Amino acid sequence: MNRPENLKQLQDTSKIWDIAVIGGGSSGLGVALDAISRGLSVVLFEKADFAKGTSSRSTKLVHGGVRYLAQGDVGLVFEALKERGKLLKNAPHLAHNQPFIIPIFTAKDRFMYSVGLKVYDWMSGRLSLGKSQFISKEETLKRLPGLKPEGLYGGVVYHDGQFDDARLALNLAQSADEAGTCVLNYVSVNSLVKNDAGKINGLHVSDKLSGKKYQVNAKMVVNATGVFADKILKMDNPEASKMIQPSQGIHLVLDLDFLGGKDALMIPKTRDGRVLFAVPWHGKLVVGTTDTLREKPKLEPEALQKEIDFVLETAAGYLTREPTRADVKSVFAGLRPLARPKEGSTKTKEISRSHKVILSESGLVTLTGGKWTTFRKMGEDTVEYFTQVTGEKLKKSKSLDMKIHGATNRVPAGHWGIYGFDAQPIQDLVNENKAWAEKLHPDFPNIEAEVIWTVREEMAVKVEDVLARRIRMLFLDAQAAIDAAPKVAKLMAEEMDKDEQWIESELADFHKTASKYLIKNNPK
Ligand SMILES: Cc1cc2nc3c(=O)[nH]c(=O)nc-3n(C[C@H](O)[C@H](O)[C@H](O)COP(=O)(O)OP(=O)(O)OC[C@H]3O[C@@H](n4cnc5c(N)ncnc54)[C@H](O)[C@@H]3O)c2cc1C
Repeated sequence: MNRPENLKQLQDTSKIWDIAVIGGGSSGLGVALDAISRGLSVVLFEKADFAKGTSSRSTKLVHGGVRYLAQGDVGLVFEALKERGKLLKNAPHLAHNQPFIIPIFTAKDRFMYSVGLKVYDWMSGRLSLGKSQFISKEETLKRLPGLKPEGLYGGVVYHDGQFDDARLALNLAQSADEAGTCVLNYVSVNSLVKNDAGKINGLHVSDKLSGKKYQVNAKMVVNATGVFADKILKMDNPEASKMIQPSQGIHLVLDLDFLGGKDALMIPKTRDGRVLFAVPWHGKLVVGTTDTLREKPKLEPEALQKEIDFVLETAAGYLTREPTRADVKSVFAGLRPLARPKEGSTKTKEISRSHKVILSESGLVTLTGGKWTTFRKMGEDTVEYFTQVTGEKLKKSKSLDMKIHGATNRVPAGHWGIYGFDAQPIQDLVNENKAWAEKLHPDFPNIEAEVIWTVREEMAVKVEDVLARRIRMLFLDAQAAIDAAPKVAKLMAEEMDKDEQWIESELADFHKTASKYLIKNNPK
């Protein structure tokens, strides 16, 4: 992925793209991937970095949604289980089979969860990741050594997928780019262009790094901006009423030994009726989440004290070693789009987890809701509107079996796994400069060559792009990421031919963002 080359494509003012996508999260990238699989020409604009929004802040599960099954949303679960199975095949370097254990305290719960999860197994059919089963109290404690034994009756094991969300977004951008999509980060859509009939036929965009502005022509424009969808709908129609009410979910990252073992813990019903997960991820434990209404959409939402306390207290109810604020390595928050209450009503409603595609009079196609797991199907359903919007024929989607950039059957060991087939070329960079074999931080396996690679091949242009979304250190240990930042900035400056002033301003920017992931900087 070459940013300057892709920007050059915008200079051709006579070019008419089939589809222009606004938003480089899972939804927008799913649209781009599906559209390119049908031979359409596609341009995608992300105003920050790929997955800077909600798509880097998920619980990291590729799941059918056991919870939605309990709510009777069978169609959604079938769809998600199929997508789950396909994603594990198409991106084996990023998504893997993860066993989960639900602690059981009564015979009634044993019966209820055993039966429910058998249905879940059956629904995944040939794409099943393994059978669910009841295990004894002893076996449960052997597999989850950190679990409190008091009152425990046993456990039910079931299987779902787990993945690296921001890396998948990046590899999707690479896959789309390699197939011919013009993908661009740090390019913001500022307004929509309409013809005399009021139909959208283009966009005004600006490169946030150089300030340069462009006008882009497109037959169909897709609004895939997550919690920012209202802003684009307002660009289309200033009278449009607000659709989205953001709801925040936070995660705390702890050392893995709070739970121990390789299995994840799933608590089906916390005191606020939500599900709580504690999932091993890149050698740490990710615990969450919450559901707190927020007024405004934000790219960098912050965890609230009551959310941090809630997750710590709930986790402490199940873990022998009760976690405290001092144990939190990183805290991150993400926003889900809820449907705003209609006038006169006070109730918010979660946009059904099955996504929605809305076609405006102007031809603007808005994709909203859904989840990471179903990004591809969401993309497919959105691209299906192409004929209705343009009157042109559409080829069949081929995205279901498209291998994602990095996919390999021989996933490299250790932290190299997430790079898939790129792992070897990254390690080979050390032949160009021996110093690049140095570690970025003593507690992490990542080496300097990875920074060089992300700049050359993965469109990383800011220190945060590397530490937050290319190597995930900010999400795993915020202080370690802050400590590693000067080294990363220096390497990037050399590779990108930037001066001392750039380094200083990058470090100031990174520090501002990263301090929000440190628990000590969150309100007490
Ligand atoms: C706490 C939490 C946990 C979750 N856990 C899971 C999970 O485990 N598994 C799962 O399947 N799903 C999960 N989800 C759901 C999943 O994360 C979301 O459905 C998904 O990430 C939404 O992606 P998106 O692309 O719609 O939005 P976003 O990722 O927010 O992307 C929208 C993008 O649009 C860009 N943008 C906005 N305005 C403009 C503009 N004017 N010009 C250009 N770009 C613009 C933004 O910068 C942003 O990057 C979770 C969600 C939350 C909140």
